[in-house]
Amino acid sequence: MRPNSLNALFASAQSLPGIGPRLVVLLKKALSLPPGIAEPRVLDVLWHLPTGVIDRRAEPDINTAQPGAIVTLKVRVLKHRAPPRGNRRAPYKVSCEDETGRIDIVFFHAERAFVERQLPQGEIRYISGRVERYNDVLQMTHPDYIVAPERRQDLPYLEPVYPLTAGLSGKVLQKASREALTKLPDVPEWQHPDWLKRRSAEAMAPVLSFTQALTRLHHPEETSDVSPASAPWQRLAYDELLANQLALAMVRDNYKAQRGRSIAGDGSVRKRIAEALPFKLTASQTAAVADIAADMQAPRRMLRLLQGDVGSGKTVVALLAMAIGVEAGAQAAIMAPTEVLARQHAETIAPLAEKAGLTVALLTGREKGKTRSGLLSRLETGEIDILIGTHALFQSDVIFKDLALAVIDEQHRFGVHQRLALQSKGKDGGADVLVMTATPIPRTLLMTHYGDLDVSKLLGKPAGRKPIKTTMASTERLTDVIERIRANVAQGAQVYWVCPLIESSEKSELAAAEERHAHLAQIFGEHVAGLLHGGMSGTQKDKTMQAFANNELKLLVATTVIEVGVNVPNATIMVIEHAERFGLAQLHQLRGRVGRGDRQSFCLLLHAPQLGETAQKRLTMMCETDDGFQIAEKDLELRGGGEVLGARQSGDAEFRVADVPGFEDLLTAARDDVKMIIASDPLLQSERGQALRTLLYLFERDEAIHLFRAA
Ligand code: ADP
Ligand code: MG
Repeated sequence: MRPNSLNALFASAQSLPGIGPRLVVLLKKALSLPPGIAEPRVLDVLWHLPTGVIDRRAEPDINTAQPGAIVTLKVRVLKHRAPPRGNRRAPYKVSCEDETGRIDIVFFHAERAFVERQLPQGEIRYISGRVERYNDVLQMTHPDYIVAPERRQDLPYLEPVYPLTAGLSGKVLQKASREALTKLPDVPEWQHPDWLKRRSAEAMAPVLSFTQALTRLHHPEETSDVSPASAPWQRLAYDELLANQLALAMVRDNYKAQRGRSIAGDGSVRKRIAEALPFKLTASQTAAVADIAADMQAPRRMLRLLQGDVGSGKTVVALLAMAIGVEAGAQAAIMAPTEVLARQHAETIAPLAEKAGLTVALLTGREKGKTRSGLLSRLETGEIDILIGTHALFQSDVIFKDLALAVIDEQHRFGVHQRLALQSKGKDGGADVLVMTATPIPRTLLMTHYGDLDVSKLLGKPAGRKPIKTTMASTERLTDVIERIRANVAQGAQVYWVCPLIESSEKSELAAAEERHAHLAQIFGEHVAGLLHGGMSGTQKDKTMQAFANNELKLLVATTVIEVGVNVPNATIMVIEHAERFGLAQLHQLRGRVGRGDRQSFCLLLHAPQLGETAQKRLTMMCETDDGFQIAEKDLELRGGGEVLGARQSGDAEFRVADVPGFEDLLTAARDDVKMIIASDPLLQSERGQALRTLLYLFERDEAIHLFRAA
């Protein structure tokens, strides 16, 4: 149970004075909310951190104020000069002075009464804003603050700047965060005394508490306070990483501690599959299968990550792993993040598995009615050996006779909850789990997303593969590009054409794809240019994919639905339009759709005529290397972590404070601390353990705590 003292933080933001139904709608747009949270809460307001600081501390005299600077001035109001009647365009000017000079305060479209109330003639006022020189007169247009001397404390000398949205002003957010901070209860210190001592010795100052750090970010005392390198930010980042590592360790330990069973096969099914394969396994494929077999045989639960670049051949490894389960007389399941990919898996896996005498079935959202119920009963009697599917596998009426192994492809699109849900369909609530990821994830990110789990890597690509030749070209050369592609298609090539990703508007993304498709269909012919997009029904998608796989369609115009997994070895050309709008990891995934056969493949990155420096660097990098790991590291450096994991696409950015590269040291420290915590106080019962529970609640990692009840 969440401590009552934290309840006010989890209440709707509407519980804050000054925030009503209208503002809450705007807040919802400006704030990033965790998945499943529909209305911003007080906590979300607190986590909406400033991105900068306006410094109003400079208090020069008028004649020393530097044009262009933001300053705070103490002035006496001399005279109002309203614009002539009927001329609404002319500015309203108010002359002010101090002992050293004069300044004009300028308003556009201002009501006379308003200006007179703000700047009463003869009175002293503090004004703050940017000063400019205009025709040799110093001016301040629309001051940010005008306050009377007795209300001087209302003028923030260091003002936090928040990411905004239309209609939501910085002042509203400042007030909201001020109110939200009052809801923070006294929280106990959860960090280890040794860590606090060390940090404080390094900084030669006491370490800020959680509350002090959060307060400092919303009320900066130095301009440098609002930056990931600042002491308050580092404190909170370390708190968040500790919560992250602790929750992962608890979930994992709980999982591994549950008795698994020993699953061992006689190798007969694996042997038959190997014989049916048109190729020999690579050394790292063989090694990965051996790792998995050893894990499955051990009387613990397996939690292993199979990591390999696109095209490295993970599917076969998964199939052989599943075969072990079947040899042991049990069942196995593989779950993919999209329907297209689930079908693709079914097409690769079914023929091989069936040759080896196994029964395979496919379950997605599309199997309904009699088909579905028939399939479910065959699953429950154990007639089906291997079930392939999408999220549909989570549904509660999907019951296995004896699930030994759950394979999860492209794990980063599923949350911890979902992983647990599938695994719990195993006998006695547990199955071995193999997670496959095509995105090469740097070690540090792996740790934040999975904790320390066991990893098998597929290195390199199957023999005989030629590296994909990647080039870039401006869209101004579209006509040449199309001409070259036409020549290639005439010689038997097949082409993917990926259409621009348009931010936050699926409709226009679709429109762009439809337009490009119409254009290319005119050139290549109606019946050889296909279109694939997310809005199509499952059957339509299948038909199109199938026609492309059968080489009836020569050209496939697609939105990013083809991103993951699709395998058409005869396709050798990938065109990506507006490549500059994609993340590097995503480009790498897309490019991985070609280069799957033994013919030379090409990838063409079409980009806007004007490219920024970073965009230029990113695309050049794509042209220079095919090494997914190198690209992932670079991506992390250039854009931050979420992109690599696809988190941004799936909308579940996991970090509030620490989601910026550069926290590796803190991450390692957090992991080490967590090892100690788990060894000494695994149920979080000590005094520090209780404080750590509060930490988990504050960072919403408390799902781990609920495991105690199950244990
Ligand atoms: P990914 O790791 O991206 O999921 P796949 O499993 O889809 O890769 O494999 C990509 C292609 O490589 C498939 O066509 C597959 O049949 C082929 N393949 C897998 N292993 C080998 C191998 N050892 N030798 C040759 N081709 C292989
Ligand atoms: Mg794959």
